[in-house]
Amino acid sequence: MKILILGGTREARELADKATGERGFDIVSSLAGRVREPVLPTGAVRVGGFGGVDGLRKWLSDNGIDAVVDATHPFAGGITANAAAAATSLELPVLHVRRPGWTEQPGDRWIRVADLAEAAKTVAGLGERVFLTIGRQGVGAFAGLRDQWFLVRAIDPPEGELPPRHEVLLARGPFTVADETALLTDRRIDVLVTKDSGGAQTEAKLAAARALALPVVVVDRPALPPGARTVETVAAAWEWLRRQR
Ligand code: NAP
Repeated sequence: MKILILGGTREARELADKATGERGFDIVSSLAGRVREPVLPTGAVRVGGFGGVDGLRKWLSDNGIDAVVDATHPFAGGITANAAAAATSLELPVLHVRRPGWTEQPGDRWIRVADLAEAAKTVAGLGERVFLTIGRQGVGAFAGLRDQWFLVRAIDPPEGELPPRHEVLLARGPFTVADETALLTDRRIDVLVTKDSGGAQTEAKLAAARALALPVVVVDRPALPPGARTVETVAAAWEWLRRQR
């Protein structure tokens, strides 16, 4: 069986590492090509967009793909919708892998918002020094905030317009609670903004914010396509793949 794994996440890498070389599977991983030095999975990798739903449908067809695993980031809503539409129109099985989101714990001061625009409106009332940990994309939603100072952390330099007062910190997780606490203290952070990405790689900032009693603006995930077949773990995705064989 020829399988396309849509990646850009740890889960996608782990699934490709597990399935590549297994009898009966021919695995191709796909990356958008946004990160300059991506951590690559084992096996065949293609890089770059497909050209929307039509481009993806053509690619799936031309490459004889039998099933699609969408293991992209929970906030990569565009490619997820395209994967569902293209695979369904070709009557190919498609599975979405979504790690669980984070859960509020005692001591947390979370404010959940629907999107980055609402996060920008909310943060304005919560403090002057803001830690933006939303990745490279979407920082522009905060560009109009002139009264706040922003610490913007991402793996690669952020895109588009930035808020006038900011520092960019280029770093790739995982981060420890001790390091996150030191960073929040050193930069005198009043409030954090994060996507509800879930996972262990970047959750230390939440523990650090809890310890320092700082408010955290948490952006909710975009909805999955209606009727999407979804699993939370690599083990469950691997079970599903084996059943397709
Ligand atoms: P997106 O908004 O859902 O997708 C925008 C376009 O990028 C898609 O329409 C597609 O272009 C292309 N694309 C996205 N993922 C792709 C993949 N795995 N392989 C080939 N093309 C892909 O995606 P995004 O939020 O920009 O995320 C891009 C990549 O970064 C994804 O692989 C995602 O897993 C990873 N990532 C995203 C975040 C985040 O916060 N959004 C965080 C960590 C990692 P075409 O229409 O031309 O096919």
